[in-house]
Amino acid sequence: MTSSDVAATVRSLMPQVIADLEELIAIPSVAFPGYPEEPVHRMAERTLALFREAGFAEARLMDVPTGYPPIYGEIPGPPGAPTVVLYAHYDVQPAPESQGWTSDPWTPTRKADGRIYGRGAADDKSGLATHLGMLRAFDGKPPVTLRLILEGMEETESNLEAFVEANPDLFQCDLFVICDMGNVRVGEPVLTTALRGDVSCTVTVRTLEHPLHSGVFGGAAPDAMMALARLLTSLHDDNGDVAVDGVTQGAWEGADLSEDDFRSMADTLPGISLPGTGSVTDRLWAKPSVNAIGIDTTSIAESSNVIHPVASAKISMRIVPGSDPEQELAALVRHLETHAPWGAQVEVTPVKAAPPYRVRTDGPGYAAAREAMAEAFGAPVGEAASGGSIPLLQTLEDASPGTEFVLWGPEDMAQTRIHASDESVDPDEIERMIVAQVLLLQRLAAS
Ligand SMILES: [Zn+2]
Repeated sequence: MTSSDVAATVRSLMPQVIADLEELIAIPSVAFPGYPEEPVHRMAERTLALFREAGFAEARLMDVPTGYPPIYGEIPGPPGAPTVVLYAHYDVQPAPESQGWTSDPWTPTRKADGRIYGRGAADDKSGLATHLGMLRAFDGKPPVTLRLILEGMEETESNLEAFVEANPDLFQCDLFVICDMGNVRVGEPVLTTALRGDVSCTVTVRTLEHPLHSGVFGGAAPDAMMALARLLTSLHDDNGDVAVDGVTQGAWEGADLSEDDFRSMADTLPGISLPGTGSVTDRLWAKPSVNAIGIDTTSIAESSNVIHPVASAKISMRIVPGSDPEQELAALVRHLETHAPWGAQVEVTPVKAAPPYRVRTDGPGYAAAREAMAEAFGAPVGEAASGGSIPLLQTLEDASPGTEFVLWGPEDMAQTRIHASDESVDPDEIERMIVAQVLLLQRLAAS
């Protein structure tokens, strides 16, 4: 197929691609504990059926000790052709009403802007749709050996890393194509070259043996909630930069985003200033960030004139590409243990140390992806990083040392709102990504 044939073929396939995507969005495949299991199993079965139909005739649900099954499949290519592993995930984030959805998250809804709204429309059912469209463009007979791995628990306690470690032979390949990313803006192609890691812990602050009357004791008795607030504040300096000793800092070499662009992507409220110093992309992609993502204390409804003896928070710190997660987590723990006011007792429990990742950009796979993407989009390809983490990448690299990665997809940063309310995807971006994936495999086969 010439590239104009590819574009025409993919265009003709789009009604089916979108129909499949909409069917999959309607299945609430939330793999978090406490959510119904039936829809996740239904999603696994339906995804499996679609990929079988599209070319992975032997694909199957794999046995795992816990959780929902990954889907694995293989299509042998011509002798001597390279091997490519396709990755996406079929589970999604929850979509609680409290997030403020303006349409039902489980009813795919095409709005006036042409985008399709629904939980998972982008993350990562658009990745499934992209892979399906590419397979159909080749009529199920790709010019390389293809392996497929679709994860069912990416958004929660992933079981895929253990699966990869137990079955490294399934993951031997020349290139991993991770379709769970996106351009900064629709239609402007970028390849993701770095991801921050994520470390987290819980911190509990104690100041008293028991609650006290705030009138009788307030003023001299230390309040655990206020002590926790001061401890949290100490994680930033006055500029809003992370002020944790020993945490690795970095700088982003590639293109920047203006503060205005960022404001419109993040929908910050009027009058809000952006914390931190350096360029916006430094702050998003190359410097650490720290946030309090949960807090346990007395609710307003249950409050009375009482000083609280104990308060807890969960802290997440995004760490920079190239840093060591255990060391970064240790620095965070040390800070929390040593910065509480009034001699408050502090107990820190580490929760997670997920590594950052830096993509190799000097190999033939990356070069082929760059060319394919430029042709599909008709525009030069930039580089971006992602503030999000995919610990799986390091596990895959360990299973297949030296293998290259391509990280891309239809989840544009500007409008997609993954994990949030009104998640959406641009169908034209899916179409361009299918074309890019087809052209990539053609280039790999020819090289
Ligand atoms: Zn995802």
